[in-house]
Amino acid sequence: MPQSVDHLVEGFKRFQHNYFGSSSVFDTLSEGQRPSTLIIGCCDSRVHPPMLTDTAPGEVFTVRNVANLVPPCEPDNPHASVAAALEFAVLALEVEHVIVMGHSSCGGIRALMNRTAIADSALGKWLSMAEPARQHVCQHYPDADAKEQQRLAEQAAILVSLNNLLSYPWLADRVAEGSLVLHGWYFDLREGALWGYDPEQHAFTELVCPLTPVTMQAA
Ligand SMILES: [Zn+2]
Repeated sequence: MPQSVDHLVEGFKRFQHNYFGSSSVFDTLSEGQRPSTLIIGCCDSRVHPPMLTDTAPGEVFTVRNVANLVPPCEPDNPHASVAAALEFAVLALEVEHVIVMGHSSCGGIRALMNRTAIADSALGKWLSMAEPARQHVCQHYPDADAKEQQRLAEQAAILVSLNNLLSYPWLADRVAEGSLVLHGWYFDLREGALWGYDPEQHAFTELVCPLTPVTMQAA
C-alpha cells in the first residue's frame, strides 16, 4: 500500500501560510511571470533548482528531466517538450540566462555509464542523447575509476546540453548578440558545493566552495 499524501497537503498549508498570509507575492505573480533565468535541471528529488538558488516563486523558470538533457534542434524533434519550454522561456519570457544544472550521484548518468537502461525503452532513448559524454569519458579517461568516470560524464553531459542549446538558431542568435548568456553548473550534493563551467579554461571551476567544518574552540 502506498503511503498517503496527507503530509503533502499539510505542506501546502504551510506554503499557503507563508505565501498567502498578510501580503502575498502572488498578488502580482497572479498577473504573470517575468523570470530572468531558465534552469534546466535533473528531475532527481534532491536537486530542486529554486531551493538550490534560494529564489522566490516567479524568479526561475524551470525545466526538469532525467539527467538535465537538452535535445538538439531537429525537424520532428522526438523530445519536443524541452524544445517547447525553451521556445517559451527564450522567445516569450525573454530570459537573459539559461543554466544547465547537473549534479553528482545522477542516476540517469549512472545508467548511461553502466548501460543499464534498456536501449529501446523511453529512458534508453532519452539517455542516448548523452552518449557523446559517455564516449568522451571512455576515450579520454579509460583508466579513471568508475566514480571518477561518472563525475566526468555528469560534467561532460552538461557540455553536450550546452552545445545542443546552440543548435536552436533563435537561441544562438541571442547568445551571439549578447542578450542571452549560457551557463553550465554542477552541484556536488555530497560536499554541498557548486561548480561552473569556465569556457576560457575549458574546465569546471568552483563557484561556491563547501562549508568548512566548524571546529570547536576550547573554552
Ligand atoms: Zn540526475
